[in-house]
Amino acid sequence: MILRFLDYLKRKEVEFTENKRLSELSSVRIGGEGRLVVSPKCRGELITVLEYLDSHTFDYKVVGGCSNILFPDGKTDKIIVKTSGLADFSAKGAAVTAETGVSLSALSRSLARAGLSGLEELSGIPGTVGGATVGNAGAYGREICELIEVAELYDREACRVITLSQADLDFGYRTSILKSGRFVLLSVTLKAREHSSAACLMRIGEITEARRKAQPREPSLGSTFKRPPGGYASRMIDLCGLKGRACGGAKISEKHAGFIVNACGATAKDYLSLAALAQKEVLRKFGVLLELEIDVF
Ligand SMILES: Cc1cc2nc3c(=O)[nH]c(=O)nc-3n(C[C@H](O)[C@H](O)[C@H](O)COP(=O)(O)OP(=O)(O)OC[C@H]3O[C@@H](n4cnc5c(N)ncnc54)[C@H](O)[C@@H]3O)c2cc1C
Repeated sequence: MILRFLDYLKRKEVEFTENKRLSELSSVRIGGEGRLVVSPKCRGELITVLEYLDSHTFDYKVVGGCSNILFPDGKTDKIIVKTSGLADFSAKGAAVTAETGVSLSALSRSLARAGLSGLEELSGIPGTVGGATVGNAGAYGREICELIEVAELYDREACRVITLSQADLDFGYRTSILKSGRFVLLSVTLKAREHSSAACLMRIGEITEARRKAQPREPSLGSTFKRPPGGYASRMIDLCGLKGRACGGAKISEKHAGFIVNACGATAKDYLSLAALAQKEVLRKFGVLLELEIDVF
């Protein structure tokens, strides 16, 4: 079945890589071999690929910048569809339409240069507009859902493209309707606000500096856990005395206890063992069960 799909990709001139080291894709630099990574160059190619995969009931996952995905250590046959080729965006006044694979940081800087405000607080979040929308990424008091007007999605059940408004996307803290796996995001339209370019760029500079001071430099997936009601996961982990605790090559960051970093050749097993230890200790000390924010592939 896979050979026929490879033939199809060749005929359609869609780029793909076989036996890819997934650690090279993920921001935490963890992961074994992926049987097949498909990289459509545009919206039309992505839809063609999705239609094929769904009609032949392949197991697949669409990914953006892989800054929130922990890949397994071993080999995986699940097909990975990478969206970074869908990287166009345009603005009509203050309405900005961005394809799913646009880098969130690059978009926020481009908009700031054009005097369009809204994404400055989110500027340091790695990854794509798509990944940020799926998980309703947020930072410094802002969530991406506040800016989204509509999203264009491929509905895997109905096998067609649909448009949903912000209200229909069912956003919550680090979640949206897209988490169900039924939809693939193609693009979003964001409502920015006209503002002084210098002020926007200055705000991005402040955010970059704040992140540089607060966050570790080693490879990571950002915060491992969601913020529990009424507290901060990082503070609870810190109060359990776990800063700097290591498991194999994974370590709880000394700079920010909410981050598990790849200090030296970590595996997914190391990462998850350390996450489980943090959950156990926080539950014991605070009676709170921390929920993973990262996506375990
Ligand atoms: C140093 C660092 C700092 C971070 N800081 C923050 C922060 O401040 N705030 C925050 O919220 N997050 C933060 N993160 C986490 C991460 O960057 C965000 O969650 C980001 O939005 C993920 O985007 P991505 O493109 O990398 O998504 P990926 O990791 O590629 O994917 C994330 C999820 O979205 C799905 N997905 C991606 N694209 C699509 C699509 N087109 N259609 C359907 N599903 C899709 C994937 O299947 C996966 O389930 C940080 C990460 C790092 C490494």
